[in-house]
Amino acid sequence: MSQNKPPLPLHERMVCNHPLAHHTTIGVGGAARYFLQAQALEDVRYALAWARERELPLFVLGGGSNVVVADSGFPGLVLQLATRGWRVEQRDAETVVMHVASGERWDYVVEHAVAQGWAGIECLSGIPGQVGATPIQNVGAYGQQVSETIVEVKALDLATGQIETFPSDSCEFGYRTSRFKTRDAGRYLIIEVAYRLFRDAVPSVRYAELAAYLDEQKIRVPTLAQVRGAVRAIRARKSMLADPNDPNARSCGSFFVNPVVSREKFEEIVNYCRRKALIGSDEMPPHYAAGDDVKLSAAWLIEHAGLKRGTRLGAAALSQKHALAIVNLGGAKARDIIALAQLVRTQVFERFGVVLQPEPVFVGFESPPLSD
Ligand SMILES: Cc1cc2nc3c(=O)[nH]c(=O)nc-3n(C[C@H](O)[C@H](O)[C@H](O)COP(=O)(O)OP(=O)(O)OC[C@H]3O[C@@H](n4cnc5c(N)ncnc54)[C@H](O)[C@@H]3O)c2cc1C
Repeated sequence: MSQNKPPLPLHERMVCNHPLAHHTTIGVGGAARYFLQAQALEDVRYALAWARERELPLFVLGGGSNVVVADSGFPGLVLQLATRGWRVEQRDAETVVMHVASGERWDYVVEHAVAQGWAGIECLSGIPGQVGATPIQNVGAYGQQVSETIVEVKALDLATGQIETFPSDSCEFGYRTSRFKTRDAGRYLIIEVAYRLFRDAVPSVRYAELAAYLDEQKIRVPTLAQVRGAVRAIRARKSMLADPNDPNARSCGSFFVNPVVSREKFEEIVNYCRRKALIGSDEMPPHYAAGDDVKLSAAWLIEHAGLKRGTRLGAAALSQKHALAIVNLGGAKARDIIALAQLVRTQVFERFGVVLQPEPVFVGFESPPLSD
């Protein structure tokens, strides 16, 4: 009869010179000087004290789907959360709150919510990565973003060791951003996120592409499961599901966020596009209202700056399916990915005067790898 072995003591689970590429979806980068998977909060506290004693920098890694690690690796401790599970609080007849551990796989949470008939995150199906990263850049897709359902974020202040609870309205959520990505970047380790979900609510179909897909399938009144299925199908067509068998999915997803420009700048771009016959005289580039400003499609700008899908630079390429994703064709180095990102950025700026901001987090680089 086999017996479960007790877990190894923490100092024995700490790994030296641990390659990071296989912990990331884009698969580039060097090794972490030290690496530890934290199964519980005590492991995190131990790791923090251990790194502090040795004056080592710390990086918190989730599922590695939004990071580019430098070829030189990371000179300190990389701590990956492996905490799992959730607790469900019944708020009232219509509402439940799921309190989810950070290391839980995000898409598993969505799958569970949909299976229970809880609405609120169905359009966020298929986004790779862990729960703890969802508030960082306020993940969003197909008309939903997590800030609409997050009630609170529980986080450990890495400087003081105190646990703090951030109600949603203090997280400073914006389009693909939050305080955890801006003024508090690297300060907190998120340990739990609470999402408010709705029983017996209709799924959200706000995004034109999603509505068109459901229409194509002749689904008039979709269930949550049908919306989840539709989102996953659309994502699969664009290689936006983390599928190890799909070469176009060896990426960080979108490499750049959609730029938001003033109305005047937008007019300037429209006039330029018409003058250069990039669009017809009564056409507009794809755009969406963003308060008083205008959000543009970064993918459209890239393709109309003369960079076709599949454009290759060494072993890095723009995805064949989506110009916004930079793909590791196999054997790429971080420097290849950065060189292609730089080319895209320069060409879009030269043509449209728009500076594309990268979406992934750069790890282990001595200075920001993309120059303006
Ligand atoms: C194919 C593909 C499709 C994608 N589609 C989308 C999409 O539709 N919408 C979207 O918004 N994003 C998308 N992404 C990007 C990515 O999946 C999300 O940003 C995701 O939330 C990152 O989660 P992660 O666990 O992999 O984080 P990582 O990549 O490991 O880390 C990202 C950042 O979060 C920090 N972090 C992670 N966990 C914690 C924690 N517990 N505490 C503190 N900091 C933490 C890291 O330090 C790092 O700064 C896509 C990526 C891929 C590869």
